[in-house]
Amino acid sequence: MSDTRIGVVGGGTMGQGIAQVLVQSGFEVSLYDVAEAALERASAAIDKGLARLVEKQRLSAEQRDEARARLTTVNSLQALADCGVIIEAAPEAPELKERLFRELDEINPEAVLASNTSSLSLTRLAAVCQRPERVVGMHFFNPVPVLKLVEVIRAEQTSDATVARVEALAESMGKTAVAIGDAPGFAVNRLLVPMINEAAFLVQEGVASAEDIDTAMKLGAAHPMGPLALADLIGLDVCLAIMNVLADGFGDPKYRPCPLLKRMVDAGYLGRKSGRGFHDYSG
Ligand code: NAD
Repeated sequence: MSDTRIGVVGGGTMGQGIAQVLVQSGFEVSLYDVAEAALERASAAIDKGLARLVEKQRLSAEQRDEARARLTTVNSLQALADCGVIIEAAPEAPELKERLFRELDEINPEAVLASNTSSLSLTRLAAVCQRPERVVGMHFFNPVPVLKLVEVIRAEQTSDATVARVEALAESMGKTAVAIGDAPGFAVNRLLVPMINEAAFLVQEGVASAEDIDTAMKLGAAHPMGPLALADLIGLDVCLAIMNVLADGFGDPKYRPCPLLKRMVDAGYLGRKSGRGFHDYSG
């Protein structure tokens, strides 16, 4: 058992990115998903990601082949018994994650169990495990190969040794770790999504157009992207879900979701993925 073999649970958008960066950084990875097709898609996406790095001359063909050889896809959780750290990136459903953590807790009594959850309580997840001190959040950002941050979320039960191990892992992956307490929205989403929500209020009240709000924040606050273009990229449904987590978690009216945001989600205007959000992507 060592931290050179890392398990990744869930081979979707985030699991793929996490697994790619891990193999690039020299770790052996066992990637598990319930769906065989998801594992095939993940392998293909990782191949594509590594190929892009070769094109950009950030990786040699030999390094790509070595990285690729460090990836193993597995179709049972049991295969993660020899991993030093297991990073869970399964869907954002509390019962599903709790079931997975109960199983992982039995299968591998030694590993650090990290969740990439963007909104669930790590303290509650740790509470389903026999050894809750090794449960922690590792919140990566999409796209994982590009964005440098990992929020390391400390549950009430998490030990200092667990935090130190995942901080070291994040750094070995070329990321910067910041330590955050287990509060709704953690830090980035709690700051970012209410700003997006406020931008939606500006549109709803007719104070400014979506284009002008985005221009204002790019030129006036040096944001690389305006808040509403960013909302379209994240998905308006995801933004609304995060506002609801903040509203429920804090019970403070300052987090009430903007009615325009709700109406747009009801209408299926979800942003880039549906071709229309605050901006039009039909062209
Ligand atoms: P996704 O839907 O793209 O992928 C989820 C994967 O999990 C799928 O491949 C699915 O087949 C697999 N899966 C389903 N049930 C499983 C099980 N029982 N065991 C193992 N695998 C299972 O989701 P995603 O966007 O990659 O999100 C994963 C997690 O990361 C969520 O908790 C999400 O909140 C969090 N997150 C997402 C983003 C983002 O921008 N997408 C950013 C940060 C954190």
